Amino acid sequence: MKLMGDYHTHTVDSDGKSTLEENVVSAVNKGIKQLALTDHSFSHMAHGITREVYNKQTEKINELKIKYPNLEILHGVESNLMSLEGDIDVKPEERNNFQIVVVGYHYTYKPLSLKNFFNFWLPSVLHISTKKRVMKNTMAYINAMNKNQVDILAHLNYGIKVDPVKIAEVAKEKEVYIELNAKHLGFSDKQLKKMVETGVKFVIDSDAHRSKNIAKNNRAFAVIERLNIPHSQIANLNDFPKFKNYNKDKNY
Ligand SMILES: [Zn+2]
Ligand SMILES: [Zn+2]
Repeated sequence: MKLMGDYHTHTVDSDGKSTLEENVVSAVNKGIKQLALTDHSFSHMAHGITREVYNKQTEKINELKIKYPNLEILHGVESNLMSLEGDIDVKPEERNNFQIVVVGYHYTYKPLSLKNFFNFWLPSVLHISTKKRVMKNTMAYINAMNKNQVDILAHLNYGIKVDPVKIAEVAKEKEVYIELNAKHLGFSDKQLKKMVETGVKFVIDSDAHRSKNIAKNNRAFAVIERLNIPHSQIANLNDFPKFKNYNKDKNY
């Protein structure tokens, strides 16, 4: 069972503690073949990077690609899910700047409007989890997949409660990966078994905020073993995922 890549990592440019290069060096030392650098994106009030910093990262990453030729480096963001309608903070017209788009909900996203504050931001912060709200949150992720070119859904059930099985059904259809996050693995065994039955594919991600944690995810490995999840359904075990936003031959 060999982990080939880690597709969700942070640096000092958002709330991580390590630099781009420290993450890269750690990935090389751990023996993985692909690493995505995905800092919190633009609408994250506390730690989101600016577009200017993002562009600077691109330049630095192009240097790192030459310095560390044995590691394939992907540059993208952890974009914020920001509305019931599925808005995220990567605009469709700037999609070409991203090799990977991870989408996650964080209560620190900047509300889009007064309406958005009351119908999504506030109920989420208050952890309202009535059946009706869970359904609305579930639809928010489904709308996000329909509206945007999403590669990975990060840490489902973290921050807002959803029906992960319903999301998995759509993710399977849209070829979006569902993350098994090292810190926030928010599925019951029963849910996870049902998600596996949909045929959806998962990725194991560290969500590392320190370089030493790159490629580390004991929780995911334990649950895969315990529930006997077929390795063929884990896209970065012994193989590489196919990300919609990533074109190896293109210059970013
Ligand atoms: Zn996150
Ligand atoms: Zn993260």
